[in-house]
Amino acid sequence: MNNSLLTKKLPGLLILLVLCLALCACALGEDSTGSGDREVIRQVSLLQGLTFGDYNGSVTVGQLRAMGDIGIGTFDGLNGELIMLEGIVYRAAHDGSIQVVADEETVPFSNVTFFDADETLPLTGIDSVAALKSALDKKVSEMDDNRFYMVRIDGTFRTMSVRSELPQTKPYKPLAVVLETDQTFFDYENISGTVVGLFCPNYMNDLNAVGWHFHFISDDRMAGGHVLDLSADTLTAALDRTDSFSMILPDNEMFNSFDLTIDQSADIKKVETGED
Ligand SMILES: [Zn+2]
Repeated sequence: MNNSLLTKKLPGLLILLVLCLALCACALGEDSTGSGDREVIRQVSLLQGLTFGDYNGSVTVGQLRAMGDIGIGTFDGLNGELIMLEGIVYRAAHDGSIQVVADEETVPFSNVTFFDADETLPLTGIDSVAALKSALDKKVSEMDDNRFYMVRIDGTFRTMSVRSELPQTKPYKPLAVVLETDQTFFDYENISGTVVGLFCPNYMNDLNAVGWHFHFISDDRMAGGHVLDLSADTLTAALDRTDSFSMILPDNEMFNSFDLTIDQSADIKKVETGED
């Protein structure tokens, strides 16, 4: 290559170099934000923020759908239970109806990930949600109970008891107070559907609820909610073991004023299970 040829080709080479660098930066950027990483449990806020009464949505449903395709949570103003399944976000509303939620709506608390089943577990003779939890606990302790798990459990449920709640207006009251008056309950029999569940390891006590948290949606997308109890003869559970956790904190006056050193474990148990 003589000098004049190099001069002619140089602008083209430079453009190529800049393009390469831009592509590399994009790929790196994706890794560092983790948006391309499927093995992350992403959490919006702390459950403790929600139980104190911060129902201010901070992340849009569209943003949530970019961070996962399966998960659980709630909506701005505590407007129903959130179930994300196969990339679609559903609301189990206070009146028992199910709606597909628009990307513009916001979420004050949620956990999502991209679902890649690592193991499946057939379940038989599940008489209660406690029996389901202990069967899953056994599996998780074999797999490693210091990890996070997202589980989907498919089948026909002999009984399914779920709850939702009435949307709240400001000033927001703590969740345990809201649920004393504003919970709605729905009981179904012989209903096919999917339970989406999150397992948080023991060290998550200050950031979420340790153990299992289940939401349900029926196959016909007509029923769903936060699971209080269930039973089934045969089910299939698929577990996604997840090694990474990332949390997005809200930025609003209410959240920023909370004293999050206060132990809320009793309130959290009450709101999760409906029991004192
Ligand atoms: Zn729930």
